[in-house]
Amino acid sequence: MARVNDQPSGWEWASGLERAEFKRLEQDIRRALGAADFTLLYQPRYQLRTHRPVGAEALIRWQHRKRGLVPPGLFLPVAEQSGLINEIGGFVLHAACIAAAGWPSSLGISVNISARQLLDGVLLDQVAAALEAAALDPERLELEVTETILLDLSLDVQFMLAALRDLGVGLALDDFGTGHTSLATLKRLPFTVMKIDRSVVRTLPRDREDAAIVRAIVGTAQALGLSVVAEGIENAEQEAFLAAIGCDSGQGFLFSPPLSGHEIISRLGAGA
Ligand code: C2E
Ligand code: MG
Ligand code: MG
Repeated sequence: MARVNDQPSGWEWASGLERAEFKRLEQDIRRALGAADFTLLYQPRYQLRTHRPVGAEALIRWQHRKRGLVPPGLFLPVAEQSGLINEIGGFVLHAACIAAAGWPSSLGISVNISARQLLDGVLLDQVAAALEAAALDPERLELEVTETILLDLSLDVQFMLAALRDLGVGLALDDFGTGHTSLATLKRLPFTVMKIDRSVVRTLPRDREDAAIVRAIVGTAQALGLSVVAEGIENAEQEAFLAAIGCDSGQGFLFSPPLSGHEIISRLGAGA
């Protein structure tokens, strides 16, 4: 298993892995791409007012032959730093669009995109190709990018976001509430959805500061005409608070953990 260094030297990466372990993981990721060892799980998202399903988020899983289940938090940083994230991202987009094409047409699919993918020219073609291969209406696809990409917002990123939006896909700002995005920045970016980070949802409704932050996020999203999704809803009190302040939809263990491709079809098909 990966060894996390106590004192990372200059060479080592943000993931804190030793160089040898980084290289091993990189090779394993390459092999896994060839052997189709990556799969997707789907976590359903529900409209809070009606409890109707509105779609699902695709979440990658790597079932490693020796290591077991490797969490995305461990292998995605390695994939990003080695450039393999583009290949993984292409796989995720294709598999997610194909899956969603088999669901009722009222349901959308959300796909996570890492910062490195946004900076690379291939993303636009990958999204267009995935939509075409699955014959999926672009309006049913939403791309989630984490708020931290806005900390260093280059013109390239702004251009990419605008080009993606021009394709007709939705754009969600993931993990919102963890960064320091200004209203002025938000106003000029083409996001369609704000996703409240689970770290501020976790302590609702008792933590007064988090409750105030979440109210402010919902108010800001509404003022900008964006819909709001809460992630990590684990209990009925959190759900009731979020519904009462006008949060549109949510996902979390209260409703369902991430499900396999087969499980999500029976869940969404059953309308619950
Ligand atoms: P995220 O996009 O914010 O996804 C939400 C994470 O919260 C997922 O973890 C999900 O399994 C977990 N989760 C869902 N409901 C609950 C809940 O009620 N309570 C708690 N405590 N957790 C909940 P996961 O699957 O381990 O993914 C972690 C992160 O890895 C994701 O965060 C996303 O940033 C990234 N990721 C996952 N799949 C992909 C992918 O295909 N591509 C890229 N670029 N990133 C991905
Ligand atoms: Mg996400
Ligand atoms: Mg998130």
